[in-house]
Amino acid sequence: MQIAQVIVDIPTRQTNNPYSYLIPDYLTDQVVPGMRVAVSFGNRKITGFVVAITDKAAFDGKLKPIDSLIDLAPVINKELLQLATWMADKTYSFKISCLQTMLPGGMRTKNQKRLIATEDSVVAAYPKIFHGQHEVDYNRQSLDNQSVTKVLELERQGKIRVEYNLTKHARPIMMKAYQAMLKPDQISGELAGVRKNANGQIRLLDILRQHPGETFLQSKLTAAGVTTSALKTGEQKGWVKATLKRHVRNPFLRPVAHTTPLHLNADQQKAVDQINIDVSDRKNDVFLLEGVTGSGKTEVYLQSIAHALETGRTALMLVPEITLTPQIVGRIRSRFGDQVAMLHSALSNGERYDEWQRINSGQAKVVVGVRSAVFAPLDNIGLIIIDEEHDSSYKQADNPRYQTRDVAKWRAAYNHCPVVLGSATPSLESRARAMKGVYRFLTLPERINHHALPHVSIVDMKTEMAQHQSILSNQLANAISDRLEKHEQIILLLNRRGYSSFLMCRDCGYVPKCPNCDISLTVHKDTHTLDCHYCGHKEPIPSVCPQCHSKRIRFYGVGSQQLEEQVRNQFPTARVLRMDVDTTRRKGSHEAIIDKFGAHKADILLGTQMIAKGLDFPEVTLVGVLNADSALQFPDFRSSERTFQLLTQVSGRSGRADKVGGVIIQTFNPDHYAIQLAKTQDYERFYATEMRVRHDGKYPPYYFTVKLTGNSPSENQTASEMFGILTFLKDNLSKQAIILGPTPKAITRINNQYYYQIIIKYRKEPNLKKTLDQILVDSQKKQRHGLQIAIDNEPLDFM
Ligand code: ADP
Ligand code: ZN
Ligand code: ZN
Repeated sequence: MQIAQVIVDIPTRQTNNPYSYLIPDYLTDQVVPGMRVAVSFGNRKITGFVVAITDKAAFDGKLKPIDSLIDLAPVINKELLQLATWMADKTYSFKISCLQTMLPGGMRTKNQKRLIATEDSVVAAYPKIFHGQHEVDYNRQSLDNQSVTKVLELERQGKIRVEYNLTKHARPIMMKAYQAMLKPDQISGELAGVRKNANGQIRLLDILRQHPGETFLQSKLTAAGVTTSALKTGEQKGWVKATLKRHVRNPFLRPVAHTTPLHLNADQQKAVDQINIDVSDRKNDVFLLEGVTGSGKTEVYLQSIAHALETGRTALMLVPEITLTPQIVGRIRSRFGDQVAMLHSALSNGERYDEWQRINSGQAKVVVGVRSAVFAPLDNIGLIIIDEEHDSSYKQADNPRYQTRDVAKWRAAYNHCPVVLGSATPSLESRARAMKGVYRFLTLPERINHHALPHVSIVDMKTEMAQHQSILSNQLANAISDRLEKHEQIILLLNRRGYSSFLMCRDCGYVPKCPNCDISLTVHKDTHTLDCHYCGHKEPIPSVCPQCHSKRIRFYGVGSQQLEEQVRNQFPTARVLRMDVDTTRRKGSHEAIIDKFGAHKADILLGTQMIAKGLDFPEVTLVGVLNADSALQFPDFRSSERTFQLLTQVSGRSGRADKVGGVIIQTFNPDHYAIQLAKTQDYERFYATEMRVRHDGKYPPYYFTVKLTGNSPSENQTASEMFGILTFLKDNLSKQAIILGPTPKAITRINNQYYYQIIIKYRKEPNLKKTLDQILVDSQKKQRHGLQIAIDNEPLDFM
């Protein structure tokens, strides 16, 4: 008797332990850990992940059997199964959420159920197509009519292709049949069956005769009047042969020219040597590769990846959200060709699934991707790289709230390989570890070919705004004119999307707010709406004040849409591109903007922080930052670090080739140390200054932190329950733990839920894990009156 231990898709603390299900006889030896199954739970039909096969149940009563298999092969390998257990514990989340997070979007169970329900007969007939194989012989005769219709439907959806080819030996007999059909009285013997459905068959033969040697899609044939029963006859008679192919979508839209490794400079060589020794010796060090922008970090990554491949292992390279990918992926593909798979949010579910299959089946040896790619099912990893390791997109904001760096370190330990964390502005946590010798420190102190760092100047907007009302200071406007005259390119960063940040009545001061959230609505002029960026609420822009009926309502706070409008007005001959969430929604639009700017078909690229990262345009000689204070305004201890990183990053976009670049930073806080030190790109001094601030304020990296957030539909209840939790924490933690709160969150109400938080800062707190687990168990048991609790271990912000 075999028993499957299943993590069921019911998110509770209790279901972090597997439930036992009987494996029915007909599935003996077919169920493997890592497969998904359908099971009954109470009176519900749900899905789950098999995590182990045993011969004893954890439970004495009568076991229910597994209803069916969802996968024919494991979708979570042994390593990832272990990782899920570690991660659930580390992030205070449910194991089922961790397992689901590891699969590409389109494969998560809820979608999968739908796939099975509509496509089950096709899947049953051609399981291999849905599990790795790309091509099988298609046999129309073996399918019932309903399945044939489904095949057609799947083909129309672009999931599969059914290709018909004229078989060689059939040509003469086909010609005979064709002629016979035209003269019905001559039909005899073997050709007799042709009579039925004659029209469809004549169409088929017509098409095949006129286009010998061509391949026809089934859907094309049916559209041209060939019935599916005519196709069936064609198959029976051996005129045609069909192949069912899973359509492999190619997310790499264009071919890339091959490049060879560059001759490294001394610092690069030293870094590559150290990393490669670790790869060869299967050592598990973490390297911090600190190199100013343009110092050639990417080439170090490429040559280390090449070494991992030479030793017969695979490599994983993570980059921040989509922004970086088009250019970086191009560089990686130009070196490693089709061995590269890519996983990021701009792929369709289908593309992501295909890429995932290429990795899972061992075809792809190098994976480049964003945060979730840290779960790529690569085997035998020889190197993990995290580029721009300080980037906030590496921390998942929702359950499971994991930090990609931690997951990468876990996988590196499992695979006996090194991790390389790369950045021009490392997170304070990573730099402090490198200083203590926990990480190994590698530096690239100079730009390639000794290119000078750009010249940065700061404009005090307090005096500027007093003089005139434009968002562009005189200095920036003059610099733009100068670059336009020289036919050089310009990047303008304004970290605020939409047209205006809010609308206000000049007479009564009324500001439209979201009905569901404590936040004012953002003006979007292109859609003529006021949008809530938190819950998605939209309403039309009013023409009179809803409160006092005045017509004097005005827009305040310039967003990227308005900046575009102003720049076009002020520089009517300049060619302007805008890149923000709103202009990059459509697939491929992001690449299109980058391509166009890269080909110098535009003079000015303006946008939100999307344009700050990683882009490499040699003709850009001016970067303008319009509101350097946007991050400083947040009441958060990391706001200086974020500001310094953003300014350094975006400045690094200027003057990457032979011309010296300039940067103009507009700010209302010209004396702030984050801004002053970004001017000189002095990471060393920033690190020293900021570490002192962190030390005095008892912040990371001196202290560990946990954030507890509670929410409910009533503010009173949220507050009182959170005070109850505070008492519980005080009773269970040591006197050294610093407990802050509960306080309402900066935006207290989102989607009609009220949020309060408690922050815990500590250095050593042996009881912490047990205490927090108990809080979660209590809230699950509804002992906290409907209060929902979220625990964020090492949160990125305290807001
Ligand atoms: P980073 O990632 O540190 O910002 P990049 O890797 O983008 O820097 O390198 C900056 C530029 O220098 C790129 O155009 C790259 O092709 C070039 N480069 C890097 N290493 C070398 C080298 N050893 N010799 C010549 N050019 C190089
Ligand atoms: Zn008014
Ligand atoms: Zn809202």
